[in-house]
Amino acid sequence: MTAQPEIKFTQLFIDGKFVDSVSGKKFAVINPSTGKKLCDVAEGDKADVDIAVEAARRAFKFGSTWRTMDASNRGRLINKLAGLIERDADYLAALETLNNGKPLAEAQFDMVCAVNCLRYYAGWSDKIHGQTIPADGSIFVVTRKEPVGVVGQIIPWNYPVLMCAWKFGPALAAGCTVVLKPAEQTPLTALYLAHLSIEAGFPTGVINVVNGFGETAGAALANHQHIQKIAFTGSTQVGKIIMETAAKSNLKRVSLELGGKSPIVVFPDVDLDEAVTICYNAIFANMGQCCCAGSRTFVHEDIYAEFVKKATAMAAARKVGNPFDEGVEQGPQVSEEQYNKILELLDSGKKEGASVTCGGNKWGTEGFFVEPTVFADVTDNMRIAREEIFGPVQTIFKFRTMEELIERANDTCYGLAAGVLTKDINTALTFAQAVEAGSVWVNCYDATMPQTPFGGFKMSGQGRELGEEGLHHYLEVKTITIAVPQKNS
Ligand code: NAD
Repeated sequence: MTAQPEIKFTQLFIDGKFVDSVSGKKFAVINPSTGKKLCDVAEGDKADVDIAVEAARRAFKFGSTWRTMDASNRGRLINKLAGLIERDADYLAALETLNNGKPLAEAQFDMVCAVNCLRYYAGWSDKIHGQTIPADGSIFVVTRKEPVGVVGQIIPWNYPVLMCAWKFGPALAAGCTVVLKPAEQTPLTALYLAHLSIEAGFPTGVINVVNGFGETAGAALANHQHIQKIAFTGSTQVGKIIMETAAKSNLKRVSLELGGKSPIVVFPDVDLDEAVTICYNAIFANMGQCCCAGSRTFVHEDIYAEFVKKATAMAAARKVGNPFDEGVEQGPQVSEEQYNKILELLDSGKKEGASVTCGGNKWGTEGFFVEPTVFADVTDNMRIAREEIFGPVQTIFKFRTMEELIERANDTCYGLAAGVLTKDINTALTFAQAVEAGSVWVNCYDATMPQTPFGGFKMSGQGRELGEEGLHHYLEVKTITIAVPQKNS
């Protein structure tokens, strides 16, 4: 294995300092490539969340350094953080690969995306403003967009640094203060970002990172009376718990980015090789651990057999192995739990009668590797057709008409993303309008950028992240009405 990065930070980051947890407890972080322990990190729970929220409240207090800072300077600090991530991108990418298992080249790309996201939101900091409104009467009315206050952010393990950027960027641009809980599987890079936030010059308490488990630290954030907004990315099941907890505690604002079972559809007029490649990347990127993965590939019956043959060949050629090795395209799944869940779903697909044309088993003798797998002859009621697998498993369905396709594509509780591949603009637009999904990609897939809103219809989420839309959840609108002696037009 290539030289591995040193693990520098393993405590909690609260009020500008690395500290142990109140309980003194720690938990093990596992290397998914080997299944062995990498290190222990401090385990935060409710007591630590309470301290972190207090620090974030102090940082947000009326008259504080953060509250009185020019908005343009908030932007400069976010830009500084982006620059530091860029400076340390090689180290951060290696740490991400070590902890998450994604191939180094993918981790390096994540760093570029994280930097771009932070820079995008840095630019927004001094462009968030209200209106003057010609209301009735002798009054002068202005609206102000104010930060909601202390926000709790709970993120998953599939894109640890990138998810931090998606969460920190809009929150900090809006002027909020943050308590972030990384996924228990992948806390290491978030802690390094916390360290960089000091170097960037953020006032203490503006950014806090509390490692810990969902049922303890995560639940304490969702339940906290002094957190005004919670942003969550993860499973639909936990998203429901977050919403319920938010409602039962203080009606904090909630944004959710949850699971998906996104259709990518291929019409017969495409360049077949190109279409096969787009569909392959749509599902296999990041070991299939992508909320918007193109996890239901619908192929027109006229090209179905040929498509399956080419898709099978591509998956079979995918290079699996040590994610630090040059040329490796697929590393391990993030955890033993995810690995077991995928293997169980592979078995269900075989038992329910889908044809395995590639893979279908675990890979290697250590770590959590799964063979790139292709299932053909998949029908709509199989578990592999309905459940989010979150693994390197392509499922290929056959369709005949647009009408039937639309019905089947929408026959899911999810609605995160969709793709359509065709040379016919009318076909593309018909599908794009009919499909129930927050993002539709035409002749491309997973084209997610900081400028464009991202999020789900139906049970894939609430609200949108990224773009201008992504700021709204972090802002309150205040209407200030001023009586004046006389109003003139
Ligand atoms: P999860 O939803 O359990 O975990 C995501 C985050 O939520 C983690 O930080 C976790 O600690 C926290 N969490 C868990 N329970 C919580 C609770 N009761 N209160 C507050 N926070 C809580 O996801 P998982 O178990 O790691 O993965 C399960 C499935 O979720 C995956 O197989 C996949 O289908 C889906 N998933 C989706 C995304 C996405 O990007 N939308 C990311 C990861 C996983």
